[in-house]
Amino acid sequence: MRVTADLERCVGSGACEALVPEVFEVGDDGVVTVLRPEPAPEEESDVREAVAQCPTRALALAD
Ligand code: SF4
Repeated sequence: MRVTADLERCVGSGACEALVPEVFEVGDDGVVTVLRPEPAPEEESDVREAVAQCPTRALALAD
């Protein structure tokens, strides 16, 4: 699994960081940084949930 973020769409809500802080971080600039674009297998379920919950659909998955 690979996860990407469209920084033009991110509004810095922090929902993704709250779910998987090991993978997503919202910085002082108010946009997300993907800390680990290829999450560990045990993180994949939470990453899928974060992608689904992103209010602006800024996150995307690729195999
Ligand atoms: S949930 Fe979406 S809008 Fe919110 S910080 Fe994460 S990527 Fe940005």
